[in-house]
Amino acid sequence: MEKHAASALNGSALQDFSSVHVLDDGRTINDFIDDKIKTLQSEVSVEGSSTLLHPLESVIDRHQQWLTLLPRVKPFYAVKCNNTPAVLRVLRALSTGFDCASKAEIQMVLNLGVSPDKIIFAHTTKPMSHIRFAAAQRVQTMTFDSEEELRKISLCHPKARLVLRIAVDDSDSLLRLSSKFGAGLGLVEKLLGLAVDLDLTVIGVSFHVGSGCTESQAFQRAISDARQVFDIAMSLLDIGGGFSGRDDFQVKFEEFSDVINAALDKFFPPDCGVQIIAEPGRFYVESAFTLAVNVIAKKNCEESGPGGQMMYYINDGVYGSLSCIVNDPAHPPVQLLPHRVNTPPWGVGEVRHRSVVWGPTCDSFDKVSDSAMITELQVGDWLLVHHMGAYSVSLICDFNGFERAKVFPVVTEETRRLLELRHTSA
Ligand code: PLP
Repeated sequence: MEKHAASALNGSALQDFSSVHVLDDGRTINDFIDDKIKTLQSEVSVEGSSTLLHPLESVIDRHQQWLTLLPRVKPFYAVKCNNTPAVLRVLRALSTGFDCASKAEIQMVLNLGVSPDKIIFAHTTKPMSHIRFAAAQRVQTMTFDSEEELRKISLCHPKARLVLRIAVDDSDSLLRLSSKFGAGLGLVEKLLGLAVDLDLTVIGVSFHVGSGCTESQAFQRAISDARQVFDIAMSLLDIGGGFSGRDDFQVKFEEFSDVINAALDKFFPPDCGVQIIAEPGRFYVESAFTLAVNVIAKKNCEESGPGGQMMYYINDGVYGSLSCIVNDPAHPPVQLLPHRVNTPPWGVGEVRHRSVVWGPTCDSFDKVSDSAMITELQVGDWLLVHHMGAYSVSLICDFNGFERAKVFPVVTEETRRLLELRHTSA
């Protein structure tokens, strides 16, 4: 059986991981998922909430991959992508920095004991109260992309270390950002001039190629643009985020890192004295969460042809963990897999029906799939959806009063030891 990490770790980095489960010898994450679903099935209120199962090693593996492939780039994890306490605590133990978008995110990260100099306030259009809060908390580094933002910062945080976000070509990304953020190259000179007039310090340049980037050369182009506007007095380059966290994504992280390393060596060689950071979000967490949902109702629509068209209603949907279906163009279509202990999700020769799967709310917009090919399910059955870590938990709302998914972080003994080790050597 799994032990409670809090009691097992005594004073380690994980002592505040109050709901982390530690796997005993030989038990795998799949065993944990099976056991967890078995436990939930025996609970009276089982259909109330869906469940997100979160193996922490997935985040650690990603970090290891990042350090190996992008050794010159320090990651500042984008908290907006997934603000689950276990994720933030693991990343703190791994000594990453944090990209925060608001006062609340800054507070959340500071509460973990992260030093303010490991935070970048990476939002270019901030409420003044949030800028004042950053100043009071000694969070110095923040982005801007307009004259008005510079004037607000000069009023609220005149000692800030500013990073100019430029708009870059994001046409190869599934979720484009440059229509909303980033100064065009033509505006840069004016902005830097105003910063001088206001006696503000601009330390560097940032960009974001868009989330779910499908073309590694986008980084080459953006780093080259950043070089063009980089001033002699600057010391920081921030290459943003955009990397998928899925191994089956169309462009591998290895390809991105090859292009980025080559572009950095060309435009910002190692001896140039420039610190290079990034703001990856989905890269770290996308594959670190599996969602388990329960079938709460079912209908057979006879009129839809032979076998009928089945309609299922599950206990999570687009107002909950599955909001990516409508909000996140960078999320591939969700795949619903029946949960079965010790057998593959699909048996040989089993008939699958085209099925409509609805979320739990009284809203027809809350549709999870209108063409899921699945075997017939019964009320009470469970379905699994993998790769549910990015822009899922952080977007859940309480519409219709359905419970939020419960998150169950889990570590193997080996990972627990690794985190302890990193903590004591930090
Ligand atoms: N940084 C900023 C300013 C962002 O707006 C975002 C995503 O919207 C990110 C970083 C994280 O991007 P991704 O999850 O694609 O890595």
